[in-house]
Amino acid sequence: MIPTEYPITWKKNNFGIKIYCSIPAIATGIMLTAGDTRFLLDPGDGILRDLNDELSNEQMFNISDLFITHGHHDHVGGVWALLTYFRVMRRSSDLHIHYPEGCVEIESIYNAFKSVYSKSTPYHIVMHTIYDELPFSRKKVKVQPFPVVHREYTADGKTTQLVPSLGYKFNFEGVKICYGGDTAYCDSLAKMAKDSDLAVIEAGEEDEDNHDGMHMTKDEALKIAQSAKEFCLVHVPD
Ligand SMILES: [Zn+2]
Repeated sequence: MIPTEYPITWKKNNFGIKIYCSIPAIATGIMLTAGDTRFLLDPGDGILRDLNDELSNEQMFNISDLFITHGHHDHVGGVWALLTYFRVMRRSSDLHIHYPEGCVEIESIYNAFKSVYSKSTPYHIVMHTIYDELPFSRKKVKVQPFPVVHREYTADGKTTQLVPSLGYKFNFEGVKICYGGDTAYCDSLAKMAKDSDLAVIEAGEEDEDNHDGMHMTKDEALKIAQSAKEFCLVHVPD
């Protein structure tokens, strides 16, 4: 599937995904629902508004974990709003945040929030730095993080540098959803996407001849996506 408008929903048995938005340089926002469990992936700008449109406060508090692929603003822009909303609405349960080692943006947001609001926040934030590819479980969902290759321009606008970036493969009751985040074509994503029930793959590069290491062209994305049982191409430029 190559979406023309958001949101996009997909569900198999008790495992579902809703992609509220995935527009490069603007915003991402994805919710996974596994039975009664809710996770957010890459909560970019607008995610609080989108969730508030359809979830009660109790359902919002039921979001137990945030999974961050990397620190670019279109993937973490909604985190401050969520943390602050939960404070104002008196959330009491822990909130877990998973992110790649070296993702200074999410650590900076957390540290700023802690320094401003630690004395008036009724819930705990548990930060989980991901250092390796070891699988772990959260709320009966198996999570397999894997490295991807994503770059950004430095200040001179010409040279590029690697950004700490992960993809995640989630398995709930045997249904597998693979989300690659932002990445150039890489073997790790190709391996994880293969035979997933759903692969959510970015196709952020418009220029088919451009291979600057930031995003995949549609052809590259399709090559990976089509190895899954079903796929959705996201992060396609407007
Ligand atoms: Zn990015």
